[in-house]
Amino acid sequence: MERVGDTGFLQLQAESFRALDARQQALAYWLSQASIAIDPIAYDQFSQYGLRGKRLVEELVAHQSAIATDVFAKIRSYALLFWANRGNHNETTGQKFLPTFTYEELEQAALRAQAAGAFKSAYADLPALPDADAVKRELASLRPALFDPNVEPTMTAKTPPPGQDIIQASSNTFYRGVTLEDLKNFHEQFPLSSRVVKGADGTIREEVYRAGTPDGKIPPGLYATFLKRAIEYLEKARASADPAQAQVIADLIRFYQTGSPTDWLRFGASWVRNDATVDFANGFIEVYRDARAHKGSSQSFVTVTDRAVTNAMTKLAQNAGYFEQRAPWDDKYKRQDFKPPVVKAVEVLIETGDFHVSTIGDNLPNENEIHEMYGTKNFLLLGSSHAISAAGSGKMLQEFGASPDEITRGAKVGEQSQDLLTAMHEVIGHGSGKLSDRMTTGATAALKEYFSTLEEARADLMGLWNVWDPKLKELGLVTDQESVARTMYDDAARVTLTQLRRIPKGDIIEEDHQRNRQLIVNYIIDKTGAIERLADPARNGKWYIRVKDYAKMREGVGMLLKELMRIKAEGDYPAIKALVDRYGVRFDPAVRDQVVARYKALDLPTYWAGVNPELTARFDDKGAVAAVTIGYPRDAVKQYMAYGRMYAGRQAAVGGVK
Ligand SMILES: [Zn+2]
Repeated sequence: MERVGDTGFLQLQAESFRALDARQQALAYWLSQASIAIDPIAYDQFSQYGLRGKRLVEELVAHQSAIATDVFAKIRSYALLFWANRGNHNETTGQKFLPTFTYEELEQAALRAQAAGAFKSAYADLPALPDADAVKRELASLRPALFDPNVEPTMTAKTPPPGQDIIQASSNTFYRGVTLEDLKNFHEQFPLSSRVVKGADGTIREEVYRAGTPDGKIPPGLYATFLKRAIEYLEKARASADPAQAQVIADLIRFYQTGSPTDWLRFGASWVRNDATVDFANGFIEVYRDARAHKGSSQSFVTVTDRAVTNAMTKLAQNAGYFEQRAPWDDKYKRQDFKPPVVKAVEVLIETGDFHVSTIGDNLPNENEIHEMYGTKNFLLLGSSHAISAAGSGKMLQEFGASPDEITRGAKVGEQSQDLLTAMHEVIGHGSGKLSDRMTTGATAALKEYFSTLEEARADLMGLWNVWDPKLKELGLVTDQESVARTMYDDAARVTLTQLRRIPKGDIIEEDHQRNRQLIVNYIIDKTGAIERLADPARNGKWYIRVKDYAKMREGVGMLLKELMRIKAEGDYPAIKALVDRYGVRFDPAVRDQVVARYKALDLPTYWAGVNPELTARFDDKGAVAAVTIGYPRDAVKQYMAYGRMYAGRQAAVGGVK
């Protein structure tokens, strides 16, 4: 849709929304409003200046006409990055980014905007800036945070500079004034949902994220303004939900009132057992922004189940026994009973807070207590993966495809082939196989640092092995099976070349998925010769990977799959170590350098930001939702500004027309 520096903005689509009934559409609307309500919290969690920066850029954009055109263009670009990352730290790298305008340009723009009416009302808990002096003071106080690269350089610092620990060196606000040392003897009562602060008197306490209970027994805490608003919308969502999901939403409301870990677990337990068509996540969820890995980031999404793909996965799951029987490994490692995972293919209606379009799959909740009793819910965010690959894969395929055939076929069935591989990987891949009775420790403990590489390779290989099976056609999961299968093999080979762009230094692969892919291809080259690497003299010596013989490649897939299952079942550590060290770890840095240069020449964005579909509600005269429509305005600024208005002055609800 739009590009700012290294970041590409993508319009997400969710056509499944149109198939929902009126009640589900109203539910989706109110859940989305609750997502918007918590969005500002992440800005404050990532930096103590985050919300003030957000207010600043939004007031400037709202008073665009008062600002010189050339300066406004720079402010607009900065605002887009600020919104996309929920502050001025890149959400992927955690590194701070700086504006292209100067402080003087900013000040002049802000004063002109102020004269034209900006900053006149409060923004959430931030007071209005009533006159030019107040605006000047605010800018001077924000100056280091916005312009000085040495102030708050990193959101989450796992390798802090000398003299600072991991929480002092991080810009996030999960801890204020405390050191790691201080925390040694401090027992948190709200580990996931509180900020730990040291008072002037040296005492340490928790500021709990909570709205407070209506009876006043539990007082409001940090973020009460946002959580109260979220609760208002959740109440409306609850009224539109079926009884089981209404209970889930009621449990979340209770958690937002109290902030209590017990209430969070109760919510998680009811949430994971509910598989509604309009589903959501909303809470303090992932802990990786906290270098200490305790505090949850505020994040939310609302999704609609993609029935066609989810049905395909259900069909695969129902036939898991069929595929197990035809697996190429020894019968003694074949299981008789199946408990395939619950996987939902979904389209995203909205992502807010610390939830970003680059997440294309999510497995929740995180709490072990809940996994053990009820398992997990797996979301495949197809809308996001399709949008990202549509924006880049065409150019990638043109550049790295080995033959015109491969390129034409990939353009036609590439997405279908990827979705099918993902489904088989998750549904009949990871769940398959049985450990030897002699194994007592479990495969993870036995295979240690090689376990993940083995397990990811095994799941991929189950897809590659079964893609030719006539059962898939019988189940209606593929139409042009030959093309889809060939494309899946082409992709599996080519990715070992293209993935090198993500390893800019050295000649060693560390990441498990990257290792698994390279293991598969190098093993097959060595054992069967079905794939070849070539530097094509006719094309400037560019490197390509070509599948020469698909049937032979499938033989190689079967051989490796059989061996990996044996290794897993027997916990044969020396065998997996030998395989991975030989085939999966090293690469030629000269080839990598060429790949990096070719990728750079394609000029594709490094980072992606998602622009959500827009839900617009029409209300009846009693204030109830009469109809909801979905649209794709392809206007990132408009969307972020609409979200921001929920807390600016007394504007109408976002997307709502009263
Ligand atoms: Zn996997």
